[in-house]
Amino acid sequence: MVPVTCLALPKACGTLPTVHDCGICESDLHRVTGFSTSDFRTQFLWIGCRHPGSRSARWIICRRATVMGQRTGIEWTHATWNPVTGCTRISSGCDNCYAATLAHRLLKDTYLSRPPVVDSPQNREDPFAVRLWPERLAQPLQWRKPRMIFVNSMSDIFHAHVPEAYTRQVFEVMLEASWHTYQVLTKRPSQALRFWERNKDLFDGGAIPPHIWVGTSVENQQAVYRVDLLRRVPAALRFISCEPLIGPVEVDLEGIHWVIVGGESGLGHRPVRPEWVTALRDRCIERGVPFFFKQWGGRTPKAGGRVLEGLTWDEFPNANYRTR
Ligand code: SF4
Repeated sequence: MVPVTCLALPKACGTLPTVHDCGICESDLHRVTGFSTSDFRTQFLWIGCRHPGSRSARWIICRRATVMGQRTGIEWTHATWNPVTGCTRISSGCDNCYAATLAHRLLKDTYLSRPPVVDSPQNREDPFAVRLWPERLAQPLQWRKPRMIFVNSMSDIFHAHVPEAYTRQVFEVMLEASWHTYQVLTKRPSQALRFWERNKDLFDGGAIPPHIWVGTSVENQQAVYRVDLLRRVPAALRFISCEPLIGPVEVDLEGIHWVIVGGESGLGHRPVRPEWVTALRDRCIERGVPFFFKQWGGRTPKAGGRVLEGLTWDEFPNANYRTR
């Protein structure tokens, strides 16, 4: 029997499930590969290696626990934190940007109630122009239980209109509220590198610590250059998000610690081909990189489900949840 620490909810779960040996392989044993929620209260942990038929692989039900105050439908995170909203489309992965759609519909009045950072007549009428919400800066400090937090799901923290001093404040909060795990995803990794170079003192001149994951989006082969830029960002944990995956992607995973893949959803969604997904999954397996398959996509995020060749791929990096 091998003890496994509950990585998903170290504080809330409080259990230490045990599993038997895999019986098939001798390596890569007993990884908690992910978790799923049937609602926001019950946690099911998938324990086991990746070998089909492994006798260790099974779902374990942890005790019921309230997970998050802040709900999000995004499977690979627990909560979103948006101290900045608004962005500008920069590549084909942005064509059906859900943040832009929400900004122009549900959130339009809220966003238009505040002046944009670049206060031009055109931006004032654009709900998706970049706006700052300093009153939200302290939110992670108020969330006492550890959460996995997607930073700026409605924007890109490294957008040129976000003042560097403000980005610095966002990082200061992440460094202070270090009991959480932060997922900082950008399509502008060159700006992430520039930010680190100019603000190294925040990190004592070293790498961005492991509770702040830095990632970039790669929707097709044309966007793979971003991975080379990301590799230059001295972050302890780097990830790539191939969502929406709109073309085949061949990528070097050296220095990459997590890969998310997902098909596009919403009106006008562009279908994902299974061979694009399996190619990325197989490369992850080859390189020992955790792989998360978020969705096939379709009219709604859940329309196509998220089963890939009979399995749900919910892997997370090992250097994840931290407790105080
Ligand atoms: S970078 Fe992200 S938030 Fe900005 S427009 Fe593109 S998809 Fe939307």
